[in-house]
Amino acid sequence: MNLKDKYELVIGLEVHAQLRTEAKAFAPEVNSYGDLPNTNISVVTLAHPGVLPRANKKTFDYAIRMGLALGSNITRETFFARKNYFYPDLPKGYQITQDKTPICTGGGVLIQVKEENNREKYINLTRMHLEEDAGKSMHIDGEEESYIDLNRAGVPLIEIVSEPEIRNAEEAYWYLYEIRKLVRYLDVCDGNMEEGSLRCDVNVSVRLKGAEKYGTRVEVKNINSFTNVKRAIEHEFERQTALIEEGKTFPQETRMFDATTGKTYSLRTKESLNDYRYFPEPDLTPVVVDEAWIERIKAQMPALPRELYDKFTKQYGLSDYDASQLTDDKAMALYFEDACKETKNQKGVANWLLGAVRAYLNELTMDISEFEVPASHLAGLVNLIDEGKINNNIGKQVFAKMLENPKKTALEIAQEENLVVESNSDELLELIKSVLAKYPDKVTEYKNGKKGLQGLFVGEIMKATGGKADPKLTNQLLMEELAK
Ligand code: ADP
Ligand code: MG
Repeated sequence: MNLKDKYELVIGLEVHAQLRTEAKAFAPEVNSYGDLPNTNISVVTLAHPGVLPRANKKTFDYAIRMGLALGSNITRETFFARKNYFYPDLPKGYQITQDKTPICTGGGVLIQVKEENNREKYINLTRMHLEEDAGKSMHIDGEEESYIDLNRAGVPLIEIVSEPEIRNAEEAYWYLYEIRKLVRYLDVCDGNMEEGSLRCDVNVSVRLKGAEKYGTRVEVKNINSFTNVKRAIEHEFERQTALIEEGKTFPQETRMFDATTGKTYSLRTKESLNDYRYFPEPDLTPVVVDEAWIERIKAQMPALPRELYDKFTKQYGLSDYDASQLTDDKAMALYFEDACKETKNQKGVANWLLGAVRAYLNELTMDISEFEVPASHLAGLVNLIDEGKINNNIGKQVFAKMLENPKKTALEIAQEENLVVESNSDELLELIKSVLAKYPDKVTEYKNGKKGLQGLFVGEIMKATGGKADPKLTNQLLMEELAK
């Protein structure tokens, strides 16, 4: 029997997101990635004797914004705790975190599993709490010493903990995907997994299908890419089910994922909670979040990806695919929205954006935020085609020129390049008449039933206009003319 038919995965994710505040969580120095090691460190971060932490209230703004977007409850009275452990990257010997009073509880994430025809599933959240990041130990190949960079120590984090409701690697992938999209939309975190600003611990267990009791979980720490999340889960499924099939048991433990081998290895058996000796942080006062604070954050909420997706599908009538593609990236969605202010043809804008514009950006590995053609000009191009002033093929030429001259409107370019179809149908009619006059025999043949000749006439008219004629109008006038 296939093990996938026999066993079921149970997965819960803990996602850490570094907040993009200017200062650190409890210390005054800047929160900045990629600076020279150990340049953003103060005595507070270094835990010199007698120093006191001070809570950066901006971290609450960010966490509340995220909590509201996730539909979570915002905790009104919070206090910090110390989570004690000894590790070189933690000068204080403890991490300041929220233990008993996480800033948010509940809420959830709606995911779409693309591999399963966009099946939707709501993943409930247990909690989200604020805490500080640790420094970074570096081990350089071939060197005996290890190095430490404490720039990251004290950088604010939110940790988002899901309920163990995720059931396979794909769901875990799309869950993480939605979280990354959301932190980017809300501007709370840059979502950059390669730089470690978004990281994820994956808790995995397996159980017999239909069983109610959860199996022993393993926590795979600090996975830093979407593919590795999937690989780690798939590997754990195989490892755990193989052990169970052999009648073996295994401990609850923390493991690491090795991207080279695609396997996990044991780091430590899970500390019992007591080992952390959580206790309230005596150096920080409780933080009370009142109604006014929440209202202020609500008032600043940007549009959420899901809201835009609904608007694009329901109000603009875009396909699910187009709407997903456009809302994947905040800058793309906002560009699209901007363009839609200038045209009624939203589908037309979507086609240009997901076609020619995206191809151009991909080729130059550029982001839409670097795209120089203003949204209103792209909308202008769509309108020009809709009004029949240029046809689609000419549109492509105009678009190419717009890339060279982003300051000019589509109409200006079309006029300068003499690409506008004589919009008055009289001129086109004259042209059609003169083409037909050149082929009296063919016209007779056509009238005697050789309808295939229509293609020849259209081709000749196009040639005569240099390809500028609007095919619809051309066909219409041609048919009228031939019917005479
Ligand atoms: P810890 O601090 O021990 O990591 P947390 O409460 O922060 O504990 O996180 C526990 C995570 O593990 C949650 O995401 C939860 O959904 C998940 N989880 C709990 N039990 C199981 C299980 N049996 N199998 C898989 N995941 C689990
Ligand atoms: Mg954990």
